[in-house]
Amino acid sequence: MTELLYLPDNDDRTDFEAEVVGTGEDYLVLDGTYFYPEGGGQPADQGNLEWSGGEAEVVDVQKDGGDVKHFVENVQGELPSAGEKITGVIDQEMRDKHRRMHTAQHVMSKIVLDEYNATTAGNQIHAERSRIDFEPADFSQEDVEFIEEETNRIIDKGLGVEKEELPREEVEERTPEGRVNLGLIPDHVDPLRAVIIEDYDVCPCGGTHVDSLEEIGKVNILERRSKGEGVERIEFELEN
Ligand SMILES: [Zn+2]
Repeated sequence: MTELLYLPDNDDRTDFEAEVVGTGEDYLVLDGTYFYPEGGGQPADQGNLEWSGGEAEVVDVQKDGGDVKHFVENVQGELPSAGEKITGVIDQEMRDKHRRMHTAQHVMSKIVLDEYNATTAGNQIHAERSRIDFEPADFSQEDVEFIEEETNRIIDKGLGVEKEELPREEVEERTPEGRVNLGLIPDHVDPLRAVIIEDYDVCPCGGTHVDSLEEIGKVNILERRSKGEGVERIEFELEN
Protein backbone atom coordinates (compact mmCIF):
# COMPACT_ATOMS: atom_id res chain seq x y z
CA MET A 1 0.00 0.00 0.00
CA THR A 2 1.45 3.35 -1.05
CA GLU A 3 0.21 6.62 0.40
CA LEU A 4 -0.29 9.26 -2.33
CA LEU A 5 1.56 12.06 -0.60
CA TYR A 6 1.06 14.63 -3.37
CA LEU A 7 -2.63 14.66 -2.38
CA PRO A 8 -4.50 16.71 -1.52
CA ASP A 9 -2.34 19.80 -2.17
CA ASN A 10 1.36 18.93 -2.20
CA ASP A 11 1.71 19.28 -5.98
CA ASP A 12 4.83 21.41 -5.53
CA ARG A 13 6.89 18.89 -3.53
CA THR A 14 9.63 17.22 -5.59
CA ASP A 15 11.91 15.60 -3.00
CA PHE A 16 11.11 13.26 -0.15
CA GLU A 17 12.15 10.27 1.91
CA ALA A 18 10.27 7.00 2.08
CA GLU A 19 10.60 3.36 2.98
CA VAL A 20 10.68 0.49 0.51
CA VAL A 21 7.74 -1.86 1.13
CA GLY A 22 8.04 -4.07 -1.96
CA THR A 23 10.36 -4.80 -4.84
CA GLY A 24 10.25 -6.47 -8.26
CA GLU A 25 12.85 -7.09 -10.94
CA ASP A 26 12.62 -3.51 -12.20
CA TYR A 27 10.47 -1.62 -9.73
CA LEU A 28 10.17 -0.45 -6.14
CA VAL A 29 7.02 0.04 -4.08
CA LEU A 30 7.30 2.73 -1.38
CA ASP A 31 5.20 3.33 1.72
CA GLY A 32 4.45 6.80 0.39
CA THR A 33 5.30 8.75 -2.74
CA TYR A 34 5.21 12.22 -4.25
CA PHE A 35 5.71 10.74 -7.74
CA TYR A 36 2.52 11.07 -9.78
CA PRO A 37 1.49 7.68 -11.23
CA GLU A 38 0.09 7.82 -14.78
CA GLY A 39 -3.65 8.33 -14.80
CA GLY A 40 -6.51 10.71 -15.56
CA GLY A 41 -4.89 11.73 -18.83
CA GLN A 42 -1.65 12.82 -17.16
CA PRO A 43 1.70 11.03 -17.66
CA ALA A 44 3.75 9.69 -14.77
CA ASP A 45 6.45 11.78 -13.16
CA GLN A 46 10.06 10.79 -13.75
CA GLY A 47 13.11 11.35 -11.58
CA ASN A 48 15.58 9.52 -9.37
CA LEU A 49 15.68 7.27 -6.32
CA GLU A 50 18.75 7.04 -4.10
CA TRP A 51 19.52 4.69 -1.27
CA SER A 52 22.48 3.62 0.76
CA GLY A 53 24.75 1.98 -1.83
CA GLY A 54 22.88 2.79 -4.97
CA GLU A 55 20.63 4.88 -7.15
CA ALA A 56 18.38 4.54 -10.17
CA GLU A 57 16.35 6.56 -12.65
CA VAL A 58 12.58 6.41 -12.34
CA VAL A 59 11.28 6.07 -15.90
CA ASP A 60 7.64 5.21 -15.22
CA VAL A 61 5.24 5.17 -12.27
CA GLN A 62 2.10 3.05 -12.29
CA LYS A 63 -0.70 2.30 -9.84
CA ASP A 64 -1.30 -1.38 -9.19
CA GLY A 65 -4.21 -1.80 -6.81
CA GLY A 66 -3.22 0.17 -3.71
CA ASP A 67 0.48 0.06 -4.60
CA VAL A 68 2.47 2.53 -6.67
CA LYS A 69 5.25 0.88 -8.67
CA HIS A 70 8.29 3.03 -9.46
CA PHE A 71 9.89 1.44 -12.54
CA VAL A 72 13.61 2.01 -12.64
CA GLU A 73 16.43 1.92 -15.20
CA ASN A 74 20.18 2.58 -15.05
CA VAL A 75 20.37 1.00 -11.61
CA GLN A 76 23.68 1.56 -9.80
CA GLY A 77 24.32 -1.03 -7.09
CA GLU A 78 21.76 -3.53 -5.82
CA LEU A 79 18.10 -2.55 -5.60
CA PRO A 80 17.18 -1.95 -1.95
CA SER A 81 15.05 -4.44 -0.02
CA ALA A 82 11.84 -3.92 1.93
CA GLY A 83 12.49 -1.88 5.06
CA GLU A 84 15.29 0.21 3.53
CA LYS A 85 15.01 3.98 3.22
CA ILE A 86 15.21 5.85 -0.07
CA THR A 87 15.34 9.47 -1.16
CA GLY A 88 13.15 10.38 -4.10
CA VAL A 89 13.77 13.35 -6.39
CA ILE A 90 11.18 14.21 -9.04
CA ASP A 91 12.12 15.88 -12.34
CA GLN A 92 10.91 19.34 -11.42
CA GLU A 93 10.85 20.80 -14.90
CA MET A 94 8.57 18.04 -16.14
CA ARG A 95 6.37 18.26 -13.03
CA ASP A 96 5.98 22.02 -13.49
CA LYS A 97 5.01 21.63 -17.15
CA HIS A 98 2.40 19.01 -16.26
CA ARG A 99 1.01 21.22 -13.48
CA ARG A 100 0.71 24.21 -15.84
CA MET A 101 -0.73 22.15 -18.69
CA HIS A 102 -3.24 20.37 -16.48
CA THR A 103 -4.53 23.60 -14.97
CA ALA A 104 -4.78 25.22 -18.42
CA GLN A 105 -6.92 22.23 -19.39
CA HIS A 106 -9.30 22.94 -16.49
CA VAL A 107 -9.70 26.58 -17.60
CA MET A 108 -10.31 25.69 -21.25
CA SER A 109 -12.76 22.94 -20.31
CA LYS A 110 -14.77 25.38 -18.18
CA ILE A 111 -14.86 27.99 -20.94
CA VAL A 112 -16.10 25.48 -23.51
CA LEU A 113 -18.76 24.29 -21.07
CA ASP A 114 -19.92 27.85 -20.36
CA GLU A 115 -19.85 29.10 -23.94
CA TYR A 116 -20.75 26.03 -26.00
CA ASN A 117 -22.36 23.73 -23.43
CA ALA A 118 -19.93 20.97 -24.41
CA THR A 119 -18.46 18.58 -21.89
CA THR A 120 -14.87 17.35 -21.69
CA ALA A 121 -15.05 13.78 -22.98
CA GLY A 122 -11.32 13.15 -22.54
CA ASN A 123 -7.97 14.83 -22.22
CA GLN A 124 -4.31 13.94 -22.54
CA ILE A 125 -1.73 16.13 -20.88
CA HIS A 126 1.88 16.17 -22.11
CA ALA A 127 4.73 18.46 -21.19
CA GLU A 128 4.92 20.02 -24.67
CA ARG A 129 1.48 19.55 -26.24
CA SER A 130 -1.86 18.62 -24.70
CA ARG A 131 -5.29 17.85 -26.07
CA ILE A 132 -8.91 17.95 -24.97
CA ASP A 133 -11.88 16.22 -26.62
CA PHE A 134 -15.17 18.13 -26.37
CA GLU A 135 -18.63 16.70 -26.92
CA PRO A 136 -21.05 17.62 -28.40
CA ALA A 137 -19.15 20.26 -30.35
CA ASP A 138 -18.63 21.62 -33.84
CA PHE A 139 -16.19 24.53 -33.66
CA SER A 140 -15.51 27.04 -36.41
CA GLN A 141 -12.12 28.73 -36.76
CA GLU A 142 -13.69 31.77 -35.08
CA ASP A 143 -14.78 29.63 -32.13
CA VAL A 144 -11.23 28.29 -31.74
CA GLU A 145 -9.82 31.82 -31.69
CA PHE A 146 -12.44 32.82 -29.14
CA ILE A 147 -11.64 29.82 -26.91
CA GLU A 148 -7.93 30.72 -26.99
CA GLU A 149 -8.64 34.37 -26.16
CA GLU A 150 -11.01 33.50 -23.34
CA THR A 151 -8.61 30.93 -21.87
CA ASN A 152 -5.85 33.52 -21.78
CA ARG A 153 -8.18 36.18 -20.40
CA ILE A 154 -9.13 33.94 -17.45
CA ILE A 155 -5.49 32.85 -16.91
CA ASP A 156 -4.44 36.51 -16.83
CA LYS A 157 -6.75 37.07 -13.87
CA GLY A 158 -4.23 35.08 -11.81
CA LEU A 159 -6.94 33.35 -9.76
CA GLY A 160 -5.82 31.10 -6.90
CA VAL A 161 -6.09 27.32 -7.28
CA GLU A 162 -6.89 25.22 -4.22
CA LYS A 163 -6.82 21.47 -4.00
CA GLU A 164 -8.88 19.94 -1.25
CA GLU A 165 -10.31 16.60 -0.27
CA LEU A 166 -14.04 17.11 0.26
CA PRO A 167 -17.04 14.84 0.83
CA ARG A 168 -18.15 13.42 -2.50
CA GLU A 169 -21.62 14.88 -2.07
CA GLU A 170 -20.19 18.38 -1.71
CA VAL A 171 -17.93 18.00 -4.75
CA GLU A 172 -20.85 16.73 -6.83
CA GLU A 173 -22.95 19.72 -5.73
CA ARG A 174 -20.24 22.27 -6.47
CA THR A 175 -19.08 20.83 -9.81
CA PRO A 176 -20.89 22.63 -12.64
CA GLU A 177 -23.41 20.49 -14.53
CA GLY A 178 -21.69 18.83 -17.50
CA ARG A 179 -18.19 19.79 -16.34
CA VAL A 180 -17.11 16.14 -16.05
CA ASN A 181 -18.78 12.77 -16.14
CA LEU A 182 -19.02 12.10 -12.40
CA GLY A 183 -20.38 8.64 -13.17
CA LEU A 184 -16.90 7.60 -14.30
CA ILE A 185 -15.56 8.00 -10.76
CA PRO A 186 -16.30 4.77 -8.87
CA ASP A 187 -19.00 5.24 -6.18
CA HIS A 188 -16.71 4.17 -3.35
CA VAL A 189 -14.32 7.08 -3.95
CA ASP A 190 -15.29 9.41 -1.10
CA PRO A 191 -13.92 11.92 -0.17
CA LEU A 192 -12.99 13.30 -3.58
CA ARG A 193 -10.01 15.47 -4.34
CA ALA A 194 -11.38 18.71 -5.78
CA VAL A 195 -9.49 21.33 -7.77
CA ILE A 196 -11.04 24.72 -7.05
CA ILE A 197 -10.18 27.80 -9.12
CA GLU A 198 -11.45 30.53 -6.77
CA ASP A 199 -15.08 31.28 -7.64
CA TYR A 200 -14.57 30.20 -11.25
CA ASP A 201 -14.49 26.40 -11.33
CA VAL A 202 -14.72 23.27 -9.23
CA CYS A 203 -13.77 19.88 -10.63
CA PRO A 204 -12.85 16.54 -9.07
CA CYS A 205 -9.34 15.64 -10.28
CA GLY A 206 -6.39 13.71 -8.91
CA GLY A 207 -3.70 15.29 -11.10
CA THR A 208 -1.07 17.89 -10.30
CA HIS A 209 -1.94 21.57 -10.76
CA VAL A 210 -0.46 25.01 -10.13
CA ASP A 211 -1.38 27.12 -7.09
CA SER A 212 -2.22 30.23 -9.10
CA LEU A 213 -3.31 30.69 -12.72
CA GLU A 214 -0.53 33.23 -13.19
CA GLU A 215 1.96 30.34 -13.22
CA ILE A 216 0.49 28.94 -16.45
CA GLY A 217 1.70 31.59 -18.91
CA LYS A 218 -0.03 31.81 -22.27
CA VAL A 219 -2.06 29.15 -24.06
CA ASN A 220 -1.58 28.74 -27.80
CA ILE A 221 -4.07 26.54 -29.64
CA LEU A 222 -2.23 24.55 -32.31
CA GLU A 223 -4.95 22.54 -33.93
CA ARG A 224 -8.65 21.73 -34.00
CA ARG A 225 -9.80 18.47 -35.48
CA SER A 226 -13.15 16.78 -35.81
CA LYS A 227 -13.09 13.31 -34.29
CA GLY A 228 -16.51 12.54 -35.81
CA GLU A 229 -19.89 12.11 -34.15
CA GLY A 230 -19.91 15.58 -32.62
CA VAL A 231 -16.51 15.27 -30.94
CA GLU A 232 -13.96 18.03 -31.42
CA ARG A 233 -10.33 17.77 -30.39
CA ILE A 234 -8.30 20.85 -29.49
CA GLU A 235 -4.53 20.64 -29.14
CA PHE A 236 -2.57 23.34 -27.39
CA GLU A 237 0.85 24.31 -26.10
CA LEU A 238 2.04 26.81 -23.52
CA GLU A 239 4.23 29.76 -24.28
CA ASN A 240 6.49 30.81 -21.46
ZN1 LIG B 1 -6.90 18.20 -13.22
